[in-house]
Amino acid sequence: MIFDIEMISSFYRNLPIKLAEVRKVLRRPLTVSEKILYTHLFPGNQVNSYSRGADYVDFAPDRVAMQDATAQMALLQFMMAGKQQTAVPSSVHCDHLIMAKSGAEADMKTAFTGNKEVYDFLSTVCNKYNIGFWKPGAGIIHQIVLENYAFPGGMMIGTDSHTPNAGGLGMVAIGVGGADAVDVMTGMAWELKLPRLIGIKLSGKLSGWASPKDIILKVAGMLTVSGGTGCIVEYFGEGAEALSSTGKATICNMGAEIGATCSLFGYDEAMARYLSATGRKEVAEMALSVGEHLRSDIEVITSPEKFYDQFIEINLSELEPYINGPFTPDLATPVSKMKEAAEKNGWPVNIEVGLIGSCTNSSYEDISRAASVVKNALAVNLTAKAEFKITPGSEQIRNIAERDGYLKLFEEIGGEVFANACGPCIGQWDRKGSDRNPVNSVIHSFNRNFAKRTDGNPNTNAFVASPELVTAIVISGKLTFNPLTDTLVNSEGKEVRIAEPKGFELPPAGFGKTDNGFQEPAKNGRNIEIAIAPGSDRLQNLAPFAEWDGNDYHNLPLLIKAKGKCTTDHISMAGVWLKYRGHLENISNNYMIGAINFFNGKANEILNQLTGKYDGVPAVARAYKAAGLGSVVVGEENFGEGSSREHAAMEPRYLNVKAVLVKSFARIHETNLKKQGILPLTFADKSDYDKIKETDKICITGLNELAPGKNVRVVLQHSDGTKDEISAKHTYNESQIDWFKAGSALNLIRKSSANKSK
Ligand code: SF4
Repeated sequence: MIFDIEMISSFYRNLPIKLAEVRKVLRRPLTVSEKILYTHLFPGNQVNSYSRGADYVDFAPDRVAMQDATAQMALLQFMMAGKQQTAVPSSVHCDHLIMAKSGAEADMKTAFTGNKEVYDFLSTVCNKYNIGFWKPGAGIIHQIVLENYAFPGGMMIGTDSHTPNAGGLGMVAIGVGGADAVDVMTGMAWELKLPRLIGIKLSGKLSGWASPKDIILKVAGMLTVSGGTGCIVEYFGEGAEALSSTGKATICNMGAEIGATCSLFGYDEAMARYLSATGRKEVAEMALSVGEHLRSDIEVITSPEKFYDQFIEINLSELEPYINGPFTPDLATPVSKMKEAAEKNGWPVNIEVGLIGSCTNSSYEDISRAASVVKNALAVNLTAKAEFKITPGSEQIRNIAERDGYLKLFEEIGGEVFANACGPCIGQWDRKGSDRNPVNSVIHSFNRNFAKRTDGNPNTNAFVASPELVTAIVISGKLTFNPLTDTLVNSEGKEVRIAEPKGFELPPAGFGKTDNGFQEPAKNGRNIEIAIAPGSDRLQNLAPFAEWDGNDYHNLPLLIKAKGKCTTDHISMAGVWLKYRGHLENISNNYMIGAINFFNGKANEILNQLTGKYDGVPAVARAYKAAGLGSVVVGEENFGEGSSREHAAMEPRYLNVKAVLVKSFARIHETNLKKQGILPLTFADKSDYDKIKETDKICITGLNELAPGKNVRVVLQHSDGTKDEISAKHTYNESQIDWFKAGSALNLIRKSSANKSK
């Protein structure tokens, strides 16, 4: 079955006509993402020459994907919107809640029992509202989307930061919060500030140990975790065309690590091969028939510096494998320099565990190349010095990896196969001994390596590399092992080398057939009851947030002045908290518990201005709320970088935080705050951050005159009776100001549904 084939055919049929209209207005060569964006303008929106990085534009994405952790809140919100079914094809994927501990079989049993109420809830909501449901064990959202739903030229949003993975099939695929998913599922326009464009030309060709992963690891090192913020990254050139579609997906997936809105490649033969191999030959043929509209115009390819806001060229023939980390994915070290870097930084060089797989790197090509490393090592009598864990991206991939003998090879060298799920990539790894918090190093082929993300231990130094390099490092047991130059001593005491990896782009024996874990929704879901167990501590129906009362904010106590990096993991921690994703009241107990208090350098220990005592952030926020007070959160640069979870915005709203004032925001978090009715403000003068004192009461005035481009006045009332008046910027446009006034974006949607059904 090809999903959404009618929608896809209609899109390709209309594409040349729509694009001709766009060309009439823009009258210049277009890049591939411009072609996709302009042909997905929300119906009724006129084609204009929008300014990149400035204009907010309304779009109509083709589909929505949600993972089980974020889907709970998105669907609870959707249920409040008063609709019969979703306006566009949508899907839910049960991948984030499965703990990796004792291997796939045992872990799946535990997940089915432990998460039953959540799975029942998701399954019944999907059934009722015509949403595709991928059961636990089916696989990880982005791998399933690539295997089943993504199509060149399409546009989708997903409630997960690594949704851009689908750029490997030429799709503009953007990670958003649940509130944005609700917009699209309810048929509203989805608004985005038109991204700026970064063009990356890949010349030359990968060889030996270098892989697509190394391209994005290098790019992360060049652009840093915020270098892609507000941008779409387009890859092109002969080096790009030589990459497999799944290799392209790895690169697009990790574009999230540079803060990019999304990344993508133009349509090419590798995409056609992947579509055909995964049962979508018809889609490949339709895409081919309009191929010129699914790639950048030739003028863009030949003179990229004229058309992109930033242009970079990377010669793949010279690219070395990279190892990025620890604690941030942009700390890029070429493998040949790792000995020096580890010594200089005091990183523990003994690798305890290596992990491969995840949504980022579990294609057939990845698995077959990693397996070839194992085979080559076994052939010269090497054994693994570190533990080795494998998380397949989907049941389809696991099934063929087993069929083709790769899983057996991994097990032969001591590997353990976890469930087809996120597991260790999102802190869902019950790693033996990690509760003792020893300093140690692990290496994985996942995408993120912030502190605690892998095993919850803040002292775990997590490094990121390609699956083949992770496998070689597992065998050596050393972070500093360079398989291009170094030898290892085998079981016979001889010095040997591991031959370079070889793999297959696509399975020579095909993808085969398996029960892929899909549940088709009911034809008519009207009478289906949604399962929420009474008294559940994991799921709770939502109540609408109150409308803004029209008054300025006065005397709001400072809740926390966060110091340094404050990602969504610091704001709303994952790991054990994932189980409360559908229960706003309970999950609010993790609000900002990972953030560092500027005034004492401690996490989750802040001053309660009412009592003069120190307490946890959620407890103090609740105390202010109980006293009828709002509060203000202050932070530094790129506040809210990382995941797209809207809990990081709903929790402060629930706890009565009125404004978040920072040096700069990560895009998704800023939008999420706006959607939930919280004011996201940035210091007009960043040095004003230094003026915030621990006992400050904060006033934010002029809210009745809130207008695009107009700064807001903030008064800091210090406890010694002095005051500082500062100016704060915001990025609200007119319609977003209506969200603020209504109390949330969803309040506006509900009003409009109610008006239509009258
Ligand atoms: S990045 Fe990790 S947690 Fe996120 S979808 Fe991929 S495997 Fe899951």
